[in-house]
Amino acid sequence: MTFPEQKRVFRLIPGLEKAEFLRYGTIHRNTFIKSPVLLDPTLQFRRDPRIFFAGQITGTEGYLAAAAGGWLAGFNAARMARGLDPVPLPVHTMMGALFRYIATSNPRYFQPMNPNFGLMIQVPKKLRRVEKRKFLVERARETLAQWIDTYLNPSYVSSG
Ligand SMILES: Cc1cc2nc3c(=O)[nH]c(=O)nc-3n(C[C@H](O)[C@H](O)[C@H](O)COP(=O)(O)OP(=O)(O)OC[C@H]3O[C@@H](n4cnc5c(N)ncnc54)[C@H](O)[C@@H]3O)c2cc1C
Repeated sequence: MTFPEQKRVFRLIPGLEKAEFLRYGTIHRNTFIKSPVLLDPTLQFRRDPRIFFAGQITGTEGYLAAAAGGWLAGFNAARMARGLDPVPLPVHTMMGALFRYIATSNPRYFQPMNPNFGLMIQVPKKLRRVEKRKFLVERARETLAQWIDTYLNPSYVSSG
């Protein structure tokens, strides 16, 4: 909404007829590529896998997702430099689910996405909300621990 329109609408609220607004709401527009067509969950550019993308240009939203994407892209670029295959994050982690989403969702309706539980797959339907989240967090921790053990353990790092 434009600033004058925000002023008009908020002043419709009883008690706020004469309110002064110090700061109005704003939205931001993201520029992003069509990741479902262009990227793998490893954040590699499909047309030239030596090129990596990260951050909001990939269609992720938020500081955490941008930092995690930057980390994964850097990690995989380093793997490639050592002659190793790039790897995605496990899909049962929040970031793994997000990068899977940007790489595999329907390109026609693709819009920026922030990390959220709705991206998680294979969620037991019978569990109640709190139990479901607990299950998802536990599962993410377990799969991430295995992933770290496989790809980041000291023997692996020093052997590269
Ligand atoms: C108003 C606003 C509020 C937000 N609030 C939140 C929030 O509360 N929490 C949250 O998690 N996220 C928030 N976000 C989203 C968050 O800022 C972004 O998701 C995140 O910063 C993306 O990081 P990035 O590194 O991908 O991109 P950016 O932080 O945009 O970094 C891109 C960088 O590339 C530089 N650049 C651009 N073009 C070129 C070029 N040609 N050559 C060299 N450099 C170039 C830019 O100058 C910039 O420094 C907000 C965004 C906005 C706009």
